[in-house]
This record gives sequence, C-alpha cells and structure tokens, in this order.
Amino acid sequence: CYCLPHQRCFPSPPVWHSFSKDIGGRLIQARPAAYPCHDPHYDEAACKVAKTKWTDALWRSDQVGASQHPQWDSFKQQKCLINASDTCYQGAVPIYAVDVRQADDVSKAFAFATKHHIRVIVKNTGHDYLGRSDGRGALSIWTHNLKTIDFSDNFERFQCPFDSKDGQVSAVTVGAGVQFGELYKAVAAQNKIVIAFDPPSVGAAGGYVGGGGHSVLAPTYGLPADNILEINVVTPDGSYFVANECQNKDLFWALRGGGPATFGVVLSVTYRTHPAPAAVTNVHHEVSANDSSSLRDFIAEYARLMPSIADKGYGGSFAALPNAGHLNYVLPGGNQSAAQQDWQPLVDFAASHPGLNVLQRVTMFPNFYAFFNATLCNRFKTQCTDLTGTNEILASRLLPRSLFVNSPDAIADAYMDILTRNSSNGARNFILTMSVGGGAGALGDEHSAALNPAWRKALWHTIIQAVWDDDASDDVIQHKFVDITNANQVFRDLAPESGSYMNEGDYNEPDWQTSFFGEHYERLVEIKALVDPHDVLACRNCVGSEAW
Ligand SMILES: Cc1cc2nc3c(=O)[nH]c(=O)nc-3n(C[C@H](O)[C@H](O)[C@H](O)COP(=O)(O)OP(=O)(O)OC[C@H]3O[C@@H](n4cnc5c(N)ncnc54)[C@H](O)[C@@H]3O)c2cc1C
Repeated sequence: CYCLPHQRCFPSPPVWHSFSKDIGGRLIQARPAAYPCHDPHYDEAACKVAKTKWTDALWRSDQVGASQHPQWDSFKQQKCLINASDTCYQGAVPIYAVDVRQADDVSKAFAFATKHHIRVIVKNTGHDYLGRSDGRGALSIWTHNLKTIDFSDNFERFQCPFDSKDGQVSAVTVGAGVQFGELYKAVAAQNKIVIAFDPPSVGAAGGYVGGGGHSVLAPTYGLPADNILEINVVTPDGSYFVANECQNKDLFWALRGGGPATFGVVLSVTYRTHPAPAAVTNVHHEVSANDSSSLRDFIAEYARLMPSIADKGYGGSFAALPNAGHLNYVLPGGNQSAAQQDWQPLVDFAASHPGLNVLQRVTMFPNFYAFFNATLCNRFKTQCTDLTGTNEILASRLLPRSLFVNSPDAIADAYMDILTRNSSNGARNFILTMSVGGGAGALGDEHSAALNPAWRKALWHTIIQAVWDDDASDDVIQHKFVDITNANQVFRDLAPESGSYMNEGDYNEPDWQTSFFGEHYERLVEIKALVDPHDVLACRNCVGSEAW
C-alpha cells in the first residue's frame, strides 16, 4: 500500500523542494508528453515539436514523462492525448522524477521514498511493453542521462580475477542511460563488436539486462546474460554494490534476467567485447505464397532447417503474414557462397513447390556497424531512430529446439492458426519471430543467471501484436487485451513446458511467474525479500509483486 498524491500522507511541495535541494536540484516535475498541447498550459511552439516528434523514439526517450507506447502513460480514463484538446491528465506518469547523475542520488531517492511510503519506479527510455517504467503517484528514478561508455582491453573485475586461461579480457562499461545506437557507434570506433543487435533507441543497460535481453548475435557469441561481466547497482536500502561472479553473487545472478526494477537501480553494466569479424553476412528471403497452405509448407520446411542454421551461428527475424513472409538473417563472418549453401535446402524446396515463390538475397557488409547503418539505423531514412508512439501490446512464446527436431509441422500449423484466424479487430494476423536461440546461446549453464532457463532451449521467440488508435473505445481496447492472450494460447499449447520473454510479453500472461521466470522464480522471491523488504520497488508482473 503506497501513498498517492491525493492522500494526506503524500509529501507537500515544500518537502519535495527540500528533497530536491538535497540532491543538487535534480528533482524534476514530469509531465505527459502532450501536456503543452492542452489548455490552460497550451504552448504553441512546444506543442508543434511534440506533434512532429510524436513517433520518434529518440525524442520520446528524451522526455521524462513519455513512454514509447503512450497507453502506459494513461491511467484508466485519465489520459493526455496528442490530438485532443480536452483536459490533460497526469495519468500514470509520475509527478516527480530524479534526474540521476550519481549513486548518491539514487540512495537518497530510495531513502525519501521509503520514509514517505512512495513507490519507486525506474525509467530509462520508456520502451517497456508492460508499462513498468510508468507508475501513478510513484517517484521516478530517471537514468537517461547516465551516458558514459568506457572501454578496457584488460578489464579487471572487482575482487574477482579472471582465470589465467582467459588471458586479457576486453570489455565496455556502459552507463545505464546509454542507448544501443550510441553503443554500436562507440564499439565500431574501437573495431570491436558487442552482443545485441537492437534498434538504436532501446537502452543498452536498463530493462534489456534485467529482462534477459535477446540478440541475433547470441547464436555466435552466447546470450546477453553470458556476456555481462559486472554490474554496478544501488539497492533499495541505499547501498551501492559491485556485483560479479565473486562479489554479491546473488545480485549478479538476479540482475541478469530476474526482471528489471526489482532488485535495485543499475548504474552501469560491463559487457565483454569481441574482436570485430572480418565481414558480416546478411541473408534475406522474400516469400510469397499462392495460398495459406503453401505458406504453411514453407514454414514447416524452414522450421526443419532451423537447428542447423542456428548451430552455424545465424540469428535473425521472420515477419509472417497469411500469404507472405520475410526472413532476415545475419552471421558474423562468413561469405556469400557459404551462405547460399547454408540456405540452399529452403530455396530448393520452394523451387519445387508450385505455390511458393522465394527470392534470396545475400549481402556482405565490411563490418557490423555498416550493417546496422544500412538496416536498423536507416529504416526511417532521415535519422537513426525507431518508430514508436503507437498504442501497442505484445505476447510472446519461446519455442524449444525439440519442437523443430520432432514436430516442425506442428510449428507451421500453429503459425497458420494465428495468421488466418478471424481476428475481428483483435490481435493482428501477423507474427514477428525473433530467431535468437541455439548455437552458442544454448551452451551456457541454464542456472548461471536468473533468466528463464527456457531461453537456453529455445530457437525462436514468437511475438504477436495488437495496436489501436487513441480514439478507440474502452471496449475495443479491452477486446485487444483479451484477444492477444487468447491468440497466444496457440503457442502456449504448442510449447506448454517453455516460457515467454517478459520484455515482449503479454500484460495478462497466465501464470506469469512460470512463463517469465520458470524454475528460477522461488529463488528470485527470496532475493527480493532480502534486498527490498519494504517493496519500495514494485511493478507489473515483477518478482514479488503479487501482494501489490
Ligand atoms: C521498438 C522496440 C524494439 C525492441 N527490440 C528489442 C530487441 O531487439 N531485443 C530485446 O531483447 N528487446 C527488445 N525490446 C524490448 C526491450 O528490451 C524492453 O522494452 C526493455 O525493457 C527496454 O529497456 P529500457 O531500459 O530501454 O526501457 P524502460 O522502459 O525505460 O525500462 C524498461 C524496464 O527496465 C527498468 N529499468 C530501466 N532502467 C533500469 C535501471 N537502470 N535499473 C533497474 N531497472 C531499470 C524499468 O523500470 C522498466 O521496468 C524492444 C522494445 C521496443 C519498444
């Protein structure tokens, strides 16, 4: 039970003011991003900027009061819409945010919130798909301005020497506010490569780490959790810890996949870096099918090929519509003819199938940054950003390798079930598959980090999506939430023993504890009770949030 702004227990403005002085004036009043477009505080110039930049993910991440998917900034009917002139409500946007610059700011914020029984949430870029970086009446800890990037060719963990067989370990320490576009640029300048190949606006050391993170490079370099060497964190009692394999081991374990904003505020994360490969291979397949049964045949064949593709180190994505699909894979290293050979079975299959037309394109890039610039970075031609600002929810399932080996046809049937179902304005007839499992990612110990052990067994992470306009009625929105859970039941039935990726998961995921955390949930609850006995940090579907 937390103290909310309309209650007497909520600190008065002078109390907030004195807290702000205590943290060097870094307490800011957060407003919804559309605030300047509404009376009585209408501001023509600021409103014009908000309208122009509304779907620009980098602009949104610069706003303390904006998440990437604006529905999370609302609370029930309390909204602040960009294309409406009625009242702008604060909604779920916290009124106050601490613009963190140092560990002490976080410690003091926790002390203040604990004293006044205020819930603390953490916001970095606002990409969260479960609304966890918003919180009505909460105190927001805003990490966006922690932008340091430090390289070391001989990284030394705190009181935790590496094995001599490891030799010198090359690493990059990333401040919690750094975004992937910034990180890739810096890493490329060092002629190195780092795990992850995320869109430029996503945070490199925030929710990605806590949620487990996925990467198309994982089949070559291991899962993101395997690539993290050290984490600096402030826990809710205000203590600062360096966590690694030897020091504060439970925290180190929990912070990699045990859920974001649950065990503390991460200040920085150190990733292992790898020497840049001599080239990067990018393989596309454009698939068009005469009918859905032909697409089904294609998906079954593709699924059959998957284990060998993942074992070779390829990662990628598959965007599927009822009669078409687009595969986009990447392999660090490689060459054109080897890539053609790797994928030949799929091309041969399509050539012999009367209902399929598959076009293959293999492109070689000189390095990873060139590939990033040509693909994820330049999708909007004008600026290296992402397109967000839409109301959007997702649901996910991790499909284990055993399915690909034993029943690829069942995978294809499940896909067609979702792609061709009567969605009646519910979840879209579209599946985005992230092919991010297998290969090196499957080799690590499934208990070495808190992330769901299902990740070690998975080859695909399936994502379905529902979107709606600002003027959608409550009934329509409610229907979207119900329908996406229903649609995803097809994948839950297909892989009942597996799990789901919490960062791109369903807001109403059934048995979310098992789906998001698997068998690690109980240990995570114990760690949560130790580091945050007063539940100062609480968020939707986060460890220990049942009582909230
Ligand atoms: C357009 C888009 C593309 C995406 N692509 C990928 C992808 O390729 N791979 C992938 O794995 N995921 C992807 N995601 C999902 C992404 O990993 C999650 O949304 C992630 O939680 C974003 O973290 P953030 O810190 O950037 O965002 P935020 O919304 O600011 O934070 C997300 C969560 O992390 C918490 N948090 C943030 N910073 C900290 C911190 N320093 N300490 C403790 N808790 C913190 C927040 O409280 C919140 O719970 C994508 C999301 C979007 C919207």
